[in-house]
Amino acid sequence: MDLRFHDTPPTDAEREAVDAFLGEPPDGWTGGPREARDAHTAAGGQDARDQRHLLLPVLHAVQERVGWISPGALNHICRRLTVPPADAWGVATFYALFPTTERPPRVVHVCDDIACRDRGGEALCAALEKEVGPAGAVIPDANATWMRSPCLGLCDHSPAAFLTQAGTEPLERLAGPITTGDVVSMVHHGPDAPLPERVPIPQAGDPTLRLLRRVDVADPTNLDEYRAHGGYAPLRRALTLGPVGVIREVTESKLAGRGGAAFPTGRKWDAVARQPARPHYVVCNADESEPGTFKDRVLMEGDPFAVIEAMTIAAFATGAEQGFIYLRGEYPVARERLHHAIDTARDRGFLGDGILGTDFSFDIEIRKGAGAYICGEETAIFNSIEGYRGEPRNKPPFPVESGLFGCPTLINNVETLVNVLEVLRIGGPAYATIGTRGSTGTRLFCLSGSVTRPGVYEVEHGTTLRDLVTRAGGVADGRPLQAILLGGAAGSFVTPADLDLPLTFEDVRTAGVTLGSGVVMLFDDRADLPATLARIAAFFRDESCGQCVPCRVGTVRQQEVLARLAVGRPHGSVATELVLLDNIARAMKDASICGLGQTAANAVESAITRLGLYRTESAS
Ligand code: SF4
Repeated sequence: MDLRFHDTPPTDAEREAVDAFLGEPPDGWTGGPREARDAHTAAGGQDARDQRHLLLPVLHAVQERVGWISPGALNHICRRLTVPPADAWGVATFYALFPTTERPPRVVHVCDDIACRDRGGEALCAALEKEVGPAGAVIPDANATWMRSPCLGLCDHSPAAFLTQAGTEPLERLAGPITTGDVVSMVHHGPDAPLPERVPIPQAGDPTLRLLRRVDVADPTNLDEYRAHGGYAPLRRALTLGPVGVIREVTESKLAGRGGAAFPTGRKWDAVARQPARPHYVVCNADESEPGTFKDRVLMEGDPFAVIEAMTIAAFATGAEQGFIYLRGEYPVARERLHHAIDTARDRGFLGDGILGTDFSFDIEIRKGAGAYICGEETAIFNSIEGYRGEPRNKPPFPVESGLFGCPTLINNVETLVNVLEVLRIGGPAYATIGTRGSTGTRLFCLSGSVTRPGVYEVEHGTTLRDLVTRAGGVADGRPLQAILLGGAAGSFVTPADLDLPLTFEDVRTAGVTLGSGVVMLFDDRADLPATLARIAAFFRDESCGQCVPCRVGTVRQQEVLARLAVGRPHGSVATELVLLDNIARAMKDASICGLGQTAANAVESAITRLGLYRTESAS
């Protein structure tokens, strides 16, 4: 792709997709042939440039209509938004869900990531290769293809698949647990294929639940049911307390962020509220894509009004009038329910102008991600929403001072926000008595892998790993436990000897591990840990944004070493390879810009030091 426009015109479908999304061009321009220089004249140039933030959604519009980002479509988008073609190409190619070579309209993405691979995902991919052909090849009689995919966030129903179908009525389905037959059926029949039903969360209806209490109990599409189960009482209380009172409650609760960094939520809210610059924004980080993580999906699908209400409270407290939910592209049910919840809340006066008869106004827009793990990093989300590549920014400045569109921004993930409802329901001091002194409240954990009852579990901080695993029915099939991956691919492996570890921020810190995004993935004695490590390394290699050298090069080198070790073909000796891994890990930790590079070696290091993987061979 060049800096200049080239000759390929958009097809009618591509032009329609772009113009239907962006609306009629300004000043009567009909979208016909137009020179780049025209875009900078009075004919809407400034207006068009102000719409740069629409680049991501308009790419989605094209993808959903025609199934790929063609040169003609990209040309037309660039002219409408006055974005240089090379710049837009850089954005489109950043995201895995935007192919820039032609692809059939129907694609089935089959997860082969760490949670799915040991529950049949790898065998399923192998069977598909035999039955319908290699991944990525066109299946002629179906005008479809299938592809391997990183974690789809459906680890409680693994192995999982994600169907996308482009056209005038585009649709998406996330399904699991799937069989080879299911995928073949999806390939041939698309959305008409019978798909497995989701099962309720394991703790559904448990009266002690706080965050999950409405999930699979109240109808997630019914605002009256939401209110009957306590919904919108916290917002009414917040309006009575005033912004300062709300922040005081959140601070007194000692709520810490649930995204991995555990930053005190009250301090963050206070810092945004105090910024004199205007406007302020609230961003909900709903891009959970850490392999093994699916708790935010469960909350958004099962209790969408809670997310909207919590964002509204956050906006009230911090002085924001506009919010964005940056939502994983692979979560179609969550997207549909959140859209419905936003529209319903607006219709009923809980969102929009003059909320509940006050002079407080706030609205929310959903921005759909497009398959980039790094867009779970807060500043990468801002770049993505603004229409740029989702690359993390250097910090400082921190988002509370200069975040989305350079303005003070409060960014919290879904679980953190939903906790605020509980804080306002029972009061900050009462909330602080739940859990431990250093880790207040309850926590959602994503149990997956070789476990009897996979799913999201809500427990108080301080519950031991053993208790949690026992609640989920223990190791599947009564097999011996080999290891647990705690905190996700960026987390650490622990051993059966660590089962009495209390799950608190302070205890895991002392133990040298992390709760991360709440992943608890079990591996029984049959699991192929070297292959799992190689898959984790391939994940980070693929997901590195490439902005800084230690991560861009380090993740590749790390994956190469682990791939060699997994097949028993080290360069030199195993001991030499372990030294190399150690050097790579140190360089990535010390010199990477963001958490991806800084944590990409965590699981590998812990497998070697805690599980003793490769140690015996290196000593021999
Ligand atoms: Fe990108 Fe990796 Fe650098 Fe993060 S550490 S900015 S993901 S290259």
